[in-house]
Amino acid sequence: MAAAVSTQTALSKLQGARALGQLRGVSRAARLFKTATARPSSSSSPAVCSALQLESGVCVVTGGSRGIGKAIALALGAQGCKVAVNYSSSPDKAEEVAHEITQLGGEAIIVGANMGKPEEIDALFKAVTEKWGTVDVLVNNAGITRDTLMMRMKPDQWNDVINVNLTGVFLATQAATKIMSKKRKGRIVNIASVVGLVGNAGQANYAAAKGGVIALTKSVAREWAGRSITCNSIAPGFIASDMTAAIDKKYEEGILASIPLGRYGQPEEVAGLVRFLALDPAAAYITGQTYAIDGGMTMQ
Ligand code: NAP
Repeated sequence: MAAAVSTQTALSKLQGARALGQLRGVSRAARLFKTATARPSSSSSPAVCSALQLESGVCVVTGGSRGIGKAIALALGAQGCKVAVNYSSSPDKAEEVAHEITQLGGEAIIVGANMGKPEEIDALFKAVTEKWGTVDVLVNNAGITRDTLMMRMKPDQWNDVINVNLTGVFLATQAATKIMSKKRKGRIVNIASVVGLVGNAGQANYAAAKGGVIALTKSVAREWAGRSITCNSIAPGFIASDMTAAIDKKYEEGILASIPLGRYGQPEEVAGLVRFLALDPAAAYITGQTYAIDGGMTMQ
C-alpha cells in the first residue's frame, strides 16, 4: 500500500512536470512553425534535399538493396538526399541502387551491415557519420521471414526474426536518435506490417516482431517528441517483392480475394508514403502513427 501511495505521488509529480513541459512546448512549437513556414520550397535546387528542415538530408535506409527498401532509397535520392544504402548479402544490388541514386540527382554510399548484429549496426552509423557528419532520416526497412507454424518453430527461427526485425530496429533507432537529438530534429520511419496489426498463422515470430515495432514506434515518438524527432510506422499488406515472390502460388488466389483492391501493392507505393513522412514539411506534426498500405485489407 505504501508503495502504491509513493508511486501515486511520483506519478502526479511526473504529470505536473509533463504539463509544464507541454506549456513550454507550445511556445517552442510556435517558433518552429514560424521557421518552417518562412522557408522557401527547394524544388528548384536538385542538389539540396527537398526537406529544408533537414540541413543535409542524410538518410539511412536499412535493407536498401532490394524490394521496398530499394524503392525507398531511390525515392529519397530523387529528392536530392544523401542516402546510405544498407545491405546484408547483396553488395552488387546495393551498388546498382547507389548508382541509380546518383543518376537521379542524389548522393549515395553503400554500407554492408547485418541488422541482427549490434556491432555491425554501430559500424553502419559510424560509416555514415564519417562520410556525411550526421543522420537526418532513418528508415528501418530491413526484414526477414522464417515462417512456420508455432508448433514447429525452432528457437533459432524465433530469434533470427526478432533480432533483425525488432532488436535491429531498436538498436538503429538508438544510434540515430543519439545523433538527431543533438540537432533537435530528425525523422524515423519504421516498416512494420499488417501482420503486426492482425497476426498471421505461420508467422508468430514475424507478427511479434512487427507488433513490437509498432509499439516501439509509439514509445520512440513519445520519448523524442521534445527534441522534434518524429517516429512513425508503415504497415504494408502484400507488396510485390522477393519476400512475397516466395509465397507458395497455391495461396495466391486466396490472398488476392482478401485484398479489396484485388492486387498486390508496388514498392513505390510504400516509398511514396515514406518520402512524405521522412521529408515533407507537412509531416512535421505527425508522430507515433501507423499507416496501413494494404489495398484495404485491414480497413475498419
Ligand atoms: P525483400 O525483398 O526480401 O528485401 C529485404 C531487404 O532487407 C534486402 O535489401 C535485404 O538485403 C535486407 N536484409 C535482409 N536481412 C537483412 C539483415 N540481416 N541486415 C540488413 N539488411 C537485411 O523484402 P521486402 O518485401 O522489400 O521487405 C522490406 C520490409 O518490408 C521488411 O521489413 C518486411 O518485413 C516489410 N514488409 C514487406 C511486405 C511485403 O509484402 N513485401 C509486407 C509487409 C511488410 P540483401 O539484399 O543484402 O539480402
